[in-house]
Amino acid sequence: MMAAITAGRAKRRVLVLEKLDRAGKKLLATGNGKCNFTNKRMNASCFHGEPAFVERIIQSFSVQDCLDFFYSIGIYPKEKNGYYYPNSEQAASVVAALTNELHRLNVTISYEIKVLSIASNQMGVSVITDRGQYDAKKVVIATGLLAAPKLGSDGSLFEVIQNLGHHFEPVLPALCGFYCKGIPFKKTAGVRAHGTVTAYIHNKMAAQDTGEIQFTEYGLSGIPVFQISRYLSEGLYQKADVQIGVSLLPDFDKARLLQELSFRRELCAENSLEVLLNGLIHQKLSDMILDKLHIDKNIFAGSLSDKELKRLAECLLEFKVTVTKYRDYEFAQVCAGGIPVSELYMDTLESRFAKNIHFAGELIDADGICGGYNLHFAWATGFIAGDAASRD
Ligand SMILES: Cc1cc2nc3c(=O)[nH]c(=O)nc-3n(C[C@H](O)[C@H](O)[C@H](O)COP(=O)(O)OP(=O)(O)OC[C@H]3O[C@@H](n4cnc5c(N)ncnc54)[C@H](O)[C@@H]3O)c2cc1C
Repeated sequence: MMAAITAGRAKRRVLVLEKLDRAGKKLLATGNGKCNFTNKRMNASCFHGEPAFVERIIQSFSVQDCLDFFYSIGIYPKEKNGYYYPNSEQAASVVAALTNELHRLNVTISYEIKVLSIASNQMGVSVITDRGQYDAKKVVIATGLLAAPKLGSDGSLFEVIQNLGHHFEPVLPALCGFYCKGIPFKKTAGVRAHGTVTAYIHNKMAAQDTGEIQFTEYGLSGIPVFQISRYLSEGLYQKADVQIGVSLLPDFDKARLLQELSFRRELCAENSLEVLLNGLIHQKLSDMILDKLHIDKNIFAGSLSDKELKRLAECLLEFKVTVTKYRDYEFAQVCAGGIPVSELYMDTLESRFAKNIHFAGELIDADGICGGYNLHFAWATGFIAGDAASRD
């Protein structure tokens, strides 16, 4: 849609071919229905991908460019901790603004149309669909990878793109939850707790994030898990030992926590251990921790030895679970992988193998962390590809 609007504003005749019965279906689901469409803090370190490439993209279409663009189509921004949303807090208003602009520019959208093949020729590009052939001077392909396939991005053009000469870096869920083992997840399901998660690949720390961890029936999820998920998925893909370290008390260091627990041991000397941890961490998590340490929660807190107290502190500061599987693409917000940037011209996002064919969005091998980065990347690359495709 961004590429089509950019070309439409350059007075080009534009046709959008969309597989589903409406445009922007995934957008409706973004930001919990509120659409977090960009972020005040924008730099290459917020993305996984070739840094020079990402830097070029976000310089060519900055946060201010993004805010100006959306303002120009009627989206008044609302900022929360650097995250930008439409003031209406409705993703549907972003979809409506984009489609209204497409209509204003007389861009035609054909829905429920399946692209079967795309090829460059002397005249431009020919696109064969289940409803006939289209010839164009230029084509922008922005069909996404495999995240949330029910919302359109189902990989149906992968083969067509490969036939143009492109490769795909492994397409893996990048913002998602993980199946884990090591604690009785069924008992802790539903708990949301502030904490730090650390990705360990072969026991080596790969990434870390802090925020609200979600304990689920199958394992771990939540924003901090999403933020380290790319490393976990990659580790699983490489068949490495993948673990998540969970700190339930990230604001404490060991000495301070030991002091706190010693104080509580005295305070609750004649109460059970459950009371000792009451008010410090969620009760279901305290049961789980004591079970994990094989300490009976019904004993008097005062009877806890110094050695046990130290083990308890260590476990509260970090326990590890083994990651067995990533959640299915269906539950991923974004995928890692896609077309290597070395196969595209950086300034135009045109294919190095097929003239007049440009790429945009998640299809390109770069993915952002949570916070509006993936949509910013989609707008920015859509703008660059649409702008380049508008030139003769
Ligand atoms: C639940 C959820 C929440 C998210 N929240 C956020 C958020 O708040 N902020 C953020 O920055 N990012 C968020 N994302 C990620 C973001 O939505 C994507 O990175 C972004 O939409 C990618 O844009 P795209 O245009 O490359 O692909 P998509 O948005 O996936 O669009 C691809 C389009 O191509 C169409 N298509 C696919 N194959 C064909 C074909 N063969 N022929 C014709 N059409 C085809 C699809 O139907 C679809 O309309 C979220 C994602 C999900 C799933």
